Amino acid sequence: MRHGQIMDWPLSTSSILRRAAKVFPDGTVTAQLPDGRRHRYSYSDALQRAARLAKALQRDLGIKPGDRVATLAWNTHRHFEAYFAITGIGAICHTLNPRYALEQLEYIVDHAGDVAILADSSFVKLVQGISSAGSQLKHIILLTDADGMPPDAPDGAICYERLIAGSADGFDWPELDDQAAAILCYTSGTTGDPKGALSSHRSLVMHALCTIAAAPAHFLEREKILAVVPLFHVNAWGLPFSTPITGTSLVLPGSNLDGKSLFDLMDQEEVTSAWGVPTIWLGLLAEMRQRNRKPKALHQMVVGGAAPPGSLIDAFEADFGIEVTHGWGMTEMGPVGTLNTQSPSKATESKDAYLELKTKQGRPLYGVEMRILDEAGDPLPHDGKNSGELQVRGAAVIKEYYKNAAITEEAFTADGWFKTGDIATIDSAGNMNIVDRAKDMIKSGGEWISSIEVENAAMGHPAIAECCVIGVSHPHWQERPLLLAVLCEGQEVASESIKSLIAERVAKIAIPDEVIFVDGLPHTATGKVSKRHLRETYKDYFLSDR
Ligand code: ADP
Repeated sequence: MRHGQIMDWPLSTSSILRRAAKVFPDGTVTAQLPDGRRHRYSYSDALQRAARLAKALQRDLGIKPGDRVATLAWNTHRHFEAYFAITGIGAICHTLNPRYALEQLEYIVDHAGDVAILADSSFVKLVQGISSAGSQLKHIILLTDADGMPPDAPDGAICYERLIAGSADGFDWPELDDQAAAILCYTSGTTGDPKGALSSHRSLVMHALCTIAAAPAHFLEREKILAVVPLFHVNAWGLPFSTPITGTSLVLPGSNLDGKSLFDLMDQEEVTSAWGVPTIWLGLLAEMRQRNRKPKALHQMVVGGAAPPGSLIDAFEADFGIEVTHGWGMTEMGPVGTLNTQSPSKATESKDAYLELKTKQGRPLYGVEMRILDEAGDPLPHDGKNSGELQVRGAAVIKEYYKNAAITEEAFTADGWFKTGDIATIDSAGNMNIVDRAKDMIKSGGEWISSIEVENAAMGHPAIAECCVIGVSHPHWQERPLLLAVLCEGQEVASESIKSLIAERVAKIAIPDEVIFVDGLPHTATGKVSKRHLRETYKDYFLSDR
């Protein structure tokens, strides 16, 4: 093979911020602080502080390329700086999800072999728990100034602002091989232990570029994106990299993610685009309905991480004029795999047909390939009807799990595709539609029922705020669907009225046998309804005499 005659210019995280600092003087990063204040600065200021941190990590703490440095923090400017400083010196930024149970965190920190941790001071108890479990952590840095150091900080804990104040300006960012490891993130491990996905500098940059290419309207210099999706899980869908690549301003909400706090933040900061999971947007929608308006500059949003019901998309688009982009992805993919950017202008023909299209997860990004296979492992046609196991490969898809040969063996095919565990259809235009996670499908009398399809239908009922459908053992049918519904405040409704609405939209077999009204639904650490937990709670529901 004859190679092209092009320079070997490494794609790296630090190259993104270094360029943004020079060419986007108007791009800002704004962070909501716990005390109610907001911190706002330019990409250039962010680079300067990231450089001081990078130098301190190397010189004062002896962090070396390849070392794993954990973060345990909300979306703040300091966390943003840590992303660039840690990866910029060739170390691996290992994001920890504070919603995981202590035992899970202990397992992950130990499995990753983290040598240092940068944590919000509000997580000091968790940090104490992790570090007292005989972990190999050598340094604990609390992401605060001297006044914010908690009295119960572990011995030897370092104050972040002190650390970077003691480090001089100017840093020679090392030139790294772009295949070098950069960020490590563990999936929630709803089945078994959490599994690590280790991205590289190249995959992070490719992922950011491909996301920008798929949804360019979000990435203009005049846009301001609110990243509700956390830096502590799935790299905030790549936003820390895609925004400085394009000079788009970034807003980081800290820890208050309720509808009211997010509304006020977006309104005051004139956020134009907001990215998050459906449950977060349900909270925002309730707030918008109460105030009878949207945050003033918000005109587009991205929803993903779990299936958003059509009624949610419709409410944002039709009632408030906010264009919704629906996305799907996985930790193992960097994470974004598809984006559905069909515009509401398509709704003119038939709203139902438009919403059906819009609830599909969308077309693969450039850099992502998809296929669906039947149970025998044969490829299925892309006709929008046949559903099978979704497998992917691509420029930001892992090729193995971090230090986990056994799980890797199960998760990849012999020809190198990653098995997503999702069941999907793909239509002739390339739109992928998740029918269900394989383990959430309901098998009733030998037929498969998609829990997502039934949830979507139920969410069309105006009295339902949130709902979930699970398969529960049944003496005759093997499993039957059970609907758990949270009603909007002050609403009362008979289960029959919900069932008859569902009956208009799904096959008879998929109509839930019963509707149970609950005050709230449990969520996983990554914001999905915890179906595993609910299946356990209701496992005998159809078996016992009620
Ligand atoms: P975890 O498994 O730790 O919760 P991930 O974010 O990696 O974290 O979860 C990926 C899974 O989330 C996908 O395999 C899919 O089942 C589900 N998912 C993500 N986005 C969507 C979406 N838009 N619609 C339906 N399911 C989704």
